[in-house]
Amino acid sequence: MIKGTFPVEKFETLETPFYYYDMELLRETLNTIKKETENKPFHIHYAIKANDNPRILKEIASYGFGADCVSGNEILRALECGFSAAKIAFAGVGKTDREIHIGLDNDIFCFNVESLPELEVINTLASEKGKKARVALRINPNVDAHTHKYITTGLNENKFGINEQDLPEIVNIITSSDHIEFIGIHFHIGSQITDLSAFEDLCVKALELQEWFNKQGIRLPVINVGGGLGINYHHPNHCPMADFESYFRLFGKYLKLQDDQTLHFELGRSVVAPCGSLIARTTFVKEGLQKKFLIVDAGMTDLIRPALYQAFHHIENISSNEAYTPYDVVGPICESSDVFAEGMMLNLARRGDLVAIRSAGAYGETMVSTYNCREIPAAHFSDSL
Ligand SMILES: *Cc1c(COP(=O)(O)O)cnc(C)c1O
Repeated sequence: MIKGTFPVEKFETLETPFYYYDMELLRETLNTIKKETENKPFHIHYAIKANDNPRILKEIASYGFGADCVSGNEILRALECGFSAAKIAFAGVGKTDREIHIGLDNDIFCFNVESLPELEVINTLASEKGKKARVALRINPNVDAHTHKYITTGLNENKFGINEQDLPEIVNIITSSDHIEFIGIHFHIGSQITDLSAFEDLCVKALELQEWFNKQGIRLPVINVGGGLGINYHHPNHCPMADFESYFRLFGKYLKLQDDQTLHFELGRSVVAPCGSLIARTTFVKEGLQKKFLIVDAGMTDLIRPALYQAFHHIENISSNEAYTPYDVVGPICESSDVFAEGMMLNLARRGDLVAIRSAGAYGETMVSTYNCREIPAAHFSDSL
């Protein structure tokens, strides 16, 4: 088994657990995305919620990418970290008045509107300011993303987006709303999508909807296909990057854009997941009746994905080269779901060994909690250790 390379000696001086970000891998990823999208009418809005660490955000913003925000505070964070307001998209089913004000006051690129009442409130608040809000409709395309049900968002049973049957009414309201500038359609069907055929289905649906809008005499300058591209959690060393080439090629092939149309992507996980690891120290090795437990000082409060989505993270013992042995890797939190992995093959472990829980750069640090009065883990970066 090949293992990741970590500066273990430097880690020994740091307090655990902590997040460690491989900034070279992040830059390589950003360069790849840039290369695959430049010279095309493709625009990237990085999904802030995947990782909102300011150091990471500044790096991403420096490539000229935009941001996808799901709260008013995310808009403020994105602006602070160097994203241009003109490239900020704002989604979410429950935007409060305060959050809509933040979007309007900063003249963001677009509100991705998810319901009729939201559209009416945005129109009213924009009119009070004498402004026009740019709006795209988030449409629920009823496309199955074939991913975990907690990260599936584009089915009729999900709370997100506007259903197709409500479109005629919404379009009537848009055309009579003086403070709304309708710019296009938006989708986001789910996350950790590795079967790219789900995106083909999405393209077919987008083209159908485009035809419907065109028939009403409405042009769509913007098509936004959201995020969702998955990564390989099982083999972080062999496959350190998502398959951006196939992903962007697919959209180029299936979504023939009209003149002056731009295609927008809201990638989160695929940008930041591979570059992050959660580093923890072994507190005890406990011999159970049937299993060996590796009890580490990180828990579900530091990385909740396994407990929340039954997510898999590859784990390595970075302090040992001894024989591989199966362990259940668990945290100290008083919840039975506080388990990082079962039967993970790790080099024989001793108290004090450091383990790296890999591919934790997305939905890791952003979901940290202080349950059990836990400390917030620190973040360290490969280029400034
Ligand atoms: C979370 C989210 C994204 C990012 O999804 P990833 O799977 O991390 O790429 C994009 N758009 C919207 C609206 C989201 O809520």
